[in-house]
Amino acid sequence: STFQELGLNDDLLHAITDLGFIKPSEVQEKAIPILLESETDLVALAQTGTGKTAAFGFPMLEKIDVNSRTTQGLILSPTRELCLQIANEMKQYGKYCKGLNVVAIYGGSSITDQARDVKRGAQIIVATPGRMKDMISRRMVDISKIQYSVLDEADEMLNMGFKEDITDILSHTPEEKNTWLFSATMPREVATIAKKFMNAPREITV
Ligand code: AMP
Repeated sequence: STFQELGLNDDLLHAITDLGFIKPSEVQEKAIPILLESETDLVALAQTGTGKTAAFGFPMLEKIDVNSRTTQGLILSPTRELCLQIANEMKQYGKYCKGLNVVAIYGGSSITDQARDVKRGAQIIVATPGRMKDMISRRMVDISKIQYSVLDEADEMLNMGFKEDITDILSHTPEEKNTWLFSATMPREVATIAKKFMNAPREITV
């Protein structure tokens, strides 16, 4: 299939053309129609390098309201490197979404600079769990209007001991949001998180 057939809008198709993506990867082909067509939770078993960032990123970019400055999308990822990588990809994918602001939040860098960037109006925040929790407790971010949350590399985040932080962060988001969980493996701890925070998730495997 083509990206057009998956139902993506012209702004995203334009960016996809610029990036030279010819056709959707398997995880994109499976996830994008589900996420565009329904307001649902999703559990996706997918390794890195499969194009999973775009699989959740395109639908999130399509669904958020760029005319609002409210933070609507939250992507949690295990490391600073991944966080920056995802934020950069999201910026590239959303380069024609006028008004879009994607902010990366991670440890080891100025928290006041990051708070200032968020305050300017970030529709999407890409964060590591530790720094995110810290900024919530200092009231530097407001995630009470989140509509879409992504747990990326969920198995890695749990391996790194972020379970409590994730639980704390999600407790500050609305019940009615959609959660999309991506993981390379499905150990019991990931299944437990999925069960705790998700409502009848659709499931895909690549
Ligand atoms: P990810 O698994 O999201 O880290 O993506 C791995 C790499 O594949 C990234 O550099 C993406 O820019 C690239 N990529 C994602 N989707 C596609 C696609 N449909 N066609 C070609 N490259 C892609």
